[in-house]
Amino acid sequence: MKACTLSAPAPIGQNPLHYGDAPEPELAPGQILVRARACGVCRTDLHVVEGELEPRKSPLIPGHQVVGVVARCGPGATRFREGARVGIPWLHQTCGVCEFCRSGRENLCERAVFTGWMVDGGYAEYVAAHQDFVYALPEGAADLHLAPLLCAGIIGFRTLRVSGVPHGGALGMYGFGAAAHVAIQVARHWQIAVYAFTRDERHRTLARDLGAVWAGDSFDEPPVKLDAALIFAPAGELVPAALRTLKRGGTVALGGIHMSPLPPLDYGLLYHERVLRSVANNTRRDGEDFLRLAVEIPIHTEVREFALAEANQALNALKNDAIRGAAVLRI
Ligand SMILES: [Zn+2]
Ligand SMILES: [Zn+2]
Repeated sequence: MKACTLSAPAPIGQNPLHYGDAPEPELAPGQILVRARACGVCRTDLHVVEGELEPRKSPLIPGHQVVGVVARCGPGATRFREGARVGIPWLHQTCGVCEFCRSGRENLCERAVFTGWMVDGGYAEYVAAHQDFVYALPEGAADLHLAPLLCAGIIGFRTLRVSGVPHGGALGMYGFGAAAHVAIQVARHWQIAVYAFTRDERHRTLARDLGAVWAGDSFDEPPVKLDAALIFAPAGELVPAALRTLKRGGTVALGGIHMSPLPPLDYGLLYHERVLRSVANNTRRDGEDFLRLAVEIPIHTEVREFALAEANQALNALKNDAIRGAAVLRI
């Protein structure tokens, strides 16, 4: 099969992904083989490719927002028929028995396995996944438009939920890429006023187009105090800036897996019961709740399409803030 493979992490400017032939994955019990049709490009892929996430497998095929159809069912896999459209997300598998898995917090499982980091992912024609960790996908929406929902969408939704912003409240979003451009549609559905903070004018334009009531530079002061702020950009210096915009008791939720170091914080920024918290991965429940809502709203994703062989170009464009919405590989 054709795939983009990473032998060793390197700066994306060096185009470290190699497009070529790779062996088709073998199926373990309970797994299905998916013929990928589209794979979303996530900032986490950039962290994997550049080595900000410690390498866990080499060589590796990245990618964890896979839309495809079931090509074959492995031993004991009976949940899907061949030809069913499914989505493979970041959360590849969890242990199912630890205290986190048993308390509805499988996103925190210490033995969790992640797609496109610890096992091969979707920058390839075929991907293997356990049937219990893939999503049945709604009819209607196109493969390319569904792909960014599988990580950017679900993580944006979880970040929005854990921020505790009330329906009708005021919310900041720092970084206006794939996750924010979906989360704003959920926020507006909940009558939340969104204030977008981003250094890139094109991203401010997208935020306004999607209904942000205000869009400014990363360190600008919004015209009102906010109930919560979500940070999707991997820049630690945004944390004190976001805390400064909050009302008393407000929350800053961090949606990324990697962030540059946080600067020292004045305790006054956190005092009055402001909360700073991260979001790690997501549960299957988050994914199911979100995909249901995405159909109901309905959410529209802005997509820039690349061929599978152009994965390096897609990641370079992402790094340079040159993607409006989400980058997706057509496979
Ligand atoms: Zn577990
Ligand atoms: Zn992701």
